[in-house]
Formats: sequence, C-alpha cells, structure tokens
Amino acid sequence: MADVTCARCRKIVSESYTYFDEDGQICMDCNESVEVSQAFVKGYRSLAGSALGFALLSACFNPFMIISIVAIGTSISAIRYPARIDEEDRASLKGMHAEGVMSVAGLIIALAIAGLGVLGRLGQFALM
Ligand SMILES: [Zn+2]
Repeated sequence: MADVTCARCRKIVSESYTYFDEDGQICMDCNESVEVSQAFVKGYRSLAGSALGFALLSACFNPFMIISIVAIGTSISAIRYPARIDEEDRASLKGMHAEGVMSVAGLIIALAIAGLGVLGRLGQFALM
C-alpha cells in the first residue's frame, strides 16, 4: 500500500486511510475536522435561519406571543452561537456575516413585534 502526504497537514499516511476533498487527498484526522466544521457551519446557518424565520412568523401569527418568545430565544442563542463554541471551531464560521446579521435582525424584529403586542394589550386595557 502506497503512502501519501495529506494535502492539509502534510502528514504521511497510508493511502487506504485517506479521503478526497477540494484540497486533494487528505488524512482521516483532517477529514474528521472538515466534517466537524461543516456541522458547525450548518448548525449556525440553520439557527440563524430559524431566528429570522420565527421573527417573521411572529409578525403574522403569534398566539399568546408564544412565537415572539420562541423568536427571541432562538435569536439570542443564534447571536451567542459563535461565542459558545471552542475557538478552534469558531474558525470554521469565519466569513459567515450574513448569519450574524440574520440573528440580530431576528432579535430586533422579534422584540419590535413583541413590543407592539404588549402595547396593543395595554391599549385594550386602557380602553376598557
Ligand atoms: Zn491531514
């Protein structure tokens, strides 16, 4: 079995323990770290997406402000996501500015909708 040099870490490994990706032939360890970072990218993307999704949903459908609460909670965890993971893993989120913007936008929209909802309730009481 031929030995090959990993395209990433330059470690020499047996060819049967290598994988192919856009960098070329990489070793098992590098392949695993790629998979892990892809999982973080996916996690952040879907969390930011849900944050904005729930915020927009709360604008149209918001029984007992449950969707607002979910939207605020999801936005906060999306905003904190990069800070919560290890520094090493955070590197894989580099350049994901859209997700950061979506998370913050989600929180702002969710708070605005919740605020309007509370004001609406107060308004109803005032008129009674
Ligand atoms: Zn490697």
